Amino acid sequence: MDIPSPETKSAIQRKLLSWFDTSQRDLPWRKGYRPYQVWISEIMLQQTQVRTVLPYYQRWMERFPDIPSVAEAPEDVVLKHWEGLGYYGRARNIQRTARILVGEYQGEIPGDYQALRRLPGIGPYTAAAILSLAHGQDYPVVDGNVKRVFARLFDIPWPLSEGRSLRIIEETAASLLPHGRAGAFNQALMELGALVCAPRSPRCPQCPISGECRSHGTGIVSQRPVPSPRKATTPLRVAVGVLGSRGRIFIQKRPPGGLMPLLWEFPGGKVREGETPEEALVRELWEELEVRVGILGKIGALRHAYTSFRVELHAFHCRLLDDKARPVLRSAVEARWVMPHELTDFPFPAANGKLIRSILAHPR
Ligand code: SF4
Repeated sequence: MDIPSPETKSAIQRKLLSWFDTSQRDLPWRKGYRPYQVWISEIMLQQTQVRTVLPYYQRWMERFPDIPSVAEAPEDVVLKHWEGLGYYGRARNIQRTARILVGEYQGEIPGDYQALRRLPGIGPYTAAAILSLAHGQDYPVVDGNVKRVFARLFDIPWPLSEGRSLRIIEETAASLLPHGRAGAFNQALMELGALVCAPRSPRCPQCPISGECRSHGTGIVSQRPVPSPRKATTPLRVAVGVLGSRGRIFIQKRPPGGLMPLLWEFPGGKVREGETPEEALVRELWEELEVRVGILGKIGALRHAYTSFRVELHAFHCRLLDDKARPVLRSAVEARWVMPHELTDFPFPAANGKLIRSILAHPR
């Protein structure tokens, strides 16, 4: 890829900054670009669109208006405010970082790259976003929107998943940064990717830098970015039991290691080859909880896609065959019998959220 000339660079800077001045969206984290607000919004916006993030961000800021309020909150409350955004490790890292900031930085976010990178969950991208947007330092920010814009603008001939694409994008992003205006320029690039240079159907006639765009100039915008080879996702069949007793429902907390650590769930597990979901459920509840259960009826089958696997979740109402039996926790770390309306107080993996809505809509 040819390096853009100094004239092209300066035209891109000028046109993008002036477009951003007049076309940017009014977003809550843009008010004053305060470090805490920038940090939380950037973490929430990773792999999630602005429209989805807005209500989460508002609820978060009402409950956790500053760093000490995150540090002091019980973990379940933090996770509950993250429920639905996925990637719960990010919420846990926010709390770990908040506690370090309170303990070591007087509750402030440091304005130093190395110090930021030592904090849990703050990678190069988030550190650069905080430093450029909130501290006015010259760091380029390269997110998914920026990568797509660059792949088209500079006609990058390889998939974005390849290391050489990222290297060129990072180098070009750094060389394109207007000194002293990195925050606005980074925001302008990301905003262009979100509003104009969209993944499907980019609006080239409205683009402020269409004159500088190489793919537009050669008519190959639809071929950029070059698609990455598709990753296969593993299908997973799971059976879970909504175990009821005296109007309450049994829920348990997953162990700290492994998938979706410390989230709450209904007991159950993988359906093995040759098993029906009902047989799997009876077996799993015996293995997991040492209780024998009878199945009362099927609630439904729900499908949910995570990043690397798809779940087909078969859910059943069930009851203890021996009313006096007490579940023994063999893998979960905590368990409760809760009223159905209390289910929404606990953080569950996304697939269970759909199931809870179904239970509350059709109580037994
Ligand atoms: S001209 Fe089209 S493809 Fe090029 S940067 Fe603008 S919107 Fe994207």
